[in-house]
Amino acid sequence: MIKLHDKYFKPFLKEEQILAAIEKIAGEIAKDYNEEVPIFVGVLNGAFMFVSDFLKAYPHPCQVSFVRLSSYQGLTSTGIVETLLDIPEEMDGKSVIILEDVVDTGRTLKQLVHLFSQTNVKEFKIATLFYKSEIYNGEYTIDYIGMEIPNNFIVGYGLDYNELGRNLREVYQLNQADMINLVLFGKPGAGKGTQAGFLKEKYNLKHISTGDVFRYNIKNGTELGKLAKSYIDKGDLVPDEVTINMLKDEVEKNPEAAGFIFDGFPRTTAQAEALDNFLESKDMGINATIALEADDDVLVARLLERGKSSGRSDDQDENKIRNRFDEYNQKTAPLKAYYEKQGKFHAVNGIGEIDEITERLSKVIDCL
Ligand code: AMP
Repeated sequence: MIKLHDKYFKPFLKEEQILAAIEKIAGEIAKDYNEEVPIFVGVLNGAFMFVSDFLKAYPHPCQVSFVRLSSYQGLTSTGIVETLLDIPEEMDGKSVIILEDVVDTGRTLKQLVHLFSQTNVKEFKIATLFYKSEIYNGEYTIDYIGMEIPNNFIVGYGLDYNELGRNLREVYQLNQADMINLVLFGKPGAGKGTQAGFLKEKYNLKHISTGDVFRYNIKNGTELGKLAKSYIDKGDLVPDEVTINMLKDEVEKNPEAAGFIFDGFPRTTAQAEALDNFLESKDMGINATIALEADDDVLVARLLERGKSSGRSDDQDENKIRNRFDEYNQKTAPLKAYYEKQGKFHAVNGIGEIDEITERLSKVIDCL
């Protein structure tokens, strides 16, 4: 086990396995391009080690160049925009083969494909050392793949965790064993969002509120927002498929999190099952589901009060609020039994001072 910044990583791929994958790709490309001199374009920073070992394994004459991409957050609904800083010159009429260290969702790849489609290169191909097929959702079919890997956060062999780990000769994966993942459970108005705000600071967790993500999308007029709005305005649940995919995206966006607080998700048995399967595929799991309990009348009063200042359409009308309770009783309440069966269900009195309630929740978490 190694430690980078605040996190532990365990061995995943040995140097021999990595080099064997590179030999394989170099062999395939050499076979396809033995008649011409291709130009290999490495994607910085992560691919520098791959490019170096690849070129050593490539048996024919070739050229090499690099592009550099930077990603920054917060400009689109997907949260990430890729910007190109350098474009290799004099590639007209040449066959270009991009060398990527890892392809995951395919966002970077999409940008590269778009970029090279505007040049006069003879041919454009993509080779990647690692490929996370589970989460790839791009349209481009990748031409050369070193090896498929599961969707875990990896470092080493050029790949970093906040800039550390690039110099490791082997690949390591994040050790998830010490993660804490919590579901905050309770009717609308029970105080899940408020309490999540305190708990995330106290335990260094990432808070995901599906309601907040929907509202963010509505505010920004995205397709997802338009779709969700009609349901939310009536106090109905958004369909499972939409919500589940959105939740998965939110988790994927935070591969470095020390754990998650799920607030407002799951709300149906199908969502709970999907969450368990998804987390298991990532070597993760729910540690506890904690319910904040309060009487309906208290909750209605709280929500109407919140509606005055928040502007939330679903908080201003008692009929809509009661409809959300009906949805809860029918679809969400059965999850209590689901988590009790797993020995993970804990109930906490949700009435009292805010810090008193945080204290009650902390007691449960500290015993996990
Ligand atoms: P909340 O902020 O958690 O009260 O959520 C507000 C609204 O967003 C809900 O009434 C639903 O319409 C929708 N929503 C939030 N989370 C979910 C979910 N897990 N499944 C379905 N709909 C949801």
